[in-house]
Amino acid sequence: MDRDTIYLKSHYLYGEDFQYRKGILVIEDGIIKGFTGEHVRDPLCHRGVVIPPLINAHTHIGDNIIKDIGINKTLDELVKPPNGLKHRFLRSCSEEELIEGMLDGLEDLKDMGITYFCDFREGGLKGVNLLREAYSIFRRRYNWEFPYPLILGRPTTSGREELKREIEEILKVADGIGLSGCNEYSDEELKTIRKLDYKIFSIHANEHRGSIEYSKKVYGMSEIERIVNLKLQPTFIIHATYTTPYEGELLREEGIPVVVCPRANASFNVGLPDIHNLMDKGVLIGLGTDNFMANSPSILKEMDFIYKLYHIDPREILRFSTINNSRILGLEGVGLIEEGYRGIFTFIRDCPSIRYSRNIVASIITRCEKGDIVIYGGEDDKGSS
Ligand SMILES: [Zn+2]
Repeated sequence: MDRDTIYLKSHYLYGEDFQYRKGILVIEDGIIKGFTGEHVRDPLCHRGVVIPPLINAHTHIGDNIIKDIGINKTLDELVKPPNGLKHRFLRSCSEEELIEGMLDGLEDLKDMGITYFCDFREGGLKGVNLLREAYSIFRRRYNWEFPYPLILGRPTTSGREELKREIEEILKVADGIGLSGCNEYSDEELKTIRKLDYKIFSIHANEHRGSIEYSKKVYGMSEIERIVNLKLQPTFIIHATYTTPYEGELLREEGIPVVVCPRANASFNVGLPDIHNLMDKGVLIGLGTDNFMANSPSILKEMDFIYKLYHIDPREILRFSTINNSRILGLEGVGLIEEGYRGIFTFIRDCPSIRYSRNIVASIITRCEKGDIVIYGGEDDKGSS
């Protein structure tokens, strides 16, 4: 057998429609070549289902060290910079503690079958480097590259020149900039940051009624309207818990994707995003889980929650967390099991959650939990074959 060719025998969710197919998949130099009809001696076998790689498009892994702090406090009391409970507690943590918390978070993501995640890292350049360090410890510990972090840094300064210097420094090591929200910045500051950011640019928007009301009072328009008005062209926005049909239209026209985090919204008691409105308008939708301190980073749980509340086609929900998240984050060749895509997968074991299923996609998104995930590779290999 050619060393660079892998033959993997299993059941698959193939292509964008997730056709349930059984067969031997050929992966050459890391790229999927399709199924082979030829007889293959001793292929690798996975008993269970191979699904496209699960991706978490929005997290704050830094607050894993203060899990479930301030239960039932309001969102502003908890996370509003600079003096929300979260920020005060994080300031009291040492760098070692923060890294330990992130390491735990990475392990959690790994066990949940997450292959890539996109994190809003607070605290400027130092904050970005803390996650880089946690990830390099993780890689050495498990000899395993997933979950791979895309890190969006956040500036800590405000003056034009200082901002410029800081953003240049952050972008040398980060994958982009992630802002808490536009209410914290003047028009000029937002435009300055956007102009300097040549990588991913993302921002929370319309997360709760209070932030929208504030924006309307001070700037005469909602956060989404302001983002469009200032031509910030974010790579994607987070939340959009409240969107009017007009805002849905704006997002579609501007081609701005939305990463929704409904479980986190529910956890903070701020309402739920109108996913149907966004879908009707043809907005590209991805999924995230937001703060580790308030919500587990499980995309499986997120998909179940969405199905139960919105009754969207299970295949559409699985697209949110695989191919859509990949497109939103700009991950090339990742997100589907199809010819030409990279051989990066999430593995579901042969387990009661999927056995006897008459709708395999529905069973996976509503029943599977992290114990149903198999991780191949790494020191804690618990795979079966
Ligand atoms: Zn967030």
